[in-house]
Amino acid sequence: MMSLNYCTYGDHLAVATHYYDLIGGHRRYLCQSHADQYGYPEYLTPIKPDPWRPTYGYLVNALAGNGVSDLNADVWPFTESRTVEWLEAVGCKDPYLVADATWERYRTHPAEAAGLSIECTGVICLPLA
Ligand SMILES: [Zn+2]
Repeated sequence: MMSLNYCTYGDHLAVATHYYDLIGGHRRYLCQSHADQYGYPEYLTPIKPDPWRPTYGYLVNALAGNGVSDLNADVWPFTESRTVEWLEAVGCKDPYLVADATWERYRTHPAEAAGLSIECTGVICLPLA
């Protein structure tokens, strides 16, 4: 597993997106903002994000009140953008639902939409494509 490197420019704590090597085997790391300002971009090597870093996802379920939940929706998290699209598609207009699920993970946040009870739960999961 690749460890996370931080920008070696300035005194801020930003995750490095690029690096370059100095003579003598030293390596310097740059965050995106410092990489954008760097005068010799041809020497910068982009750091590929670690594909196995845990990421944030959302379980979204729509319940019709008959006690039946969608088994896929119980275990298959969406990315945040997919979650927002899905909620819009079923007519859920609660602007705070995803924000609440982000703020308080692993608690089910309810909303109503078109006669359905919507449940949204923020989780930490493997990377979502
Ligand atoms: Zn920086």
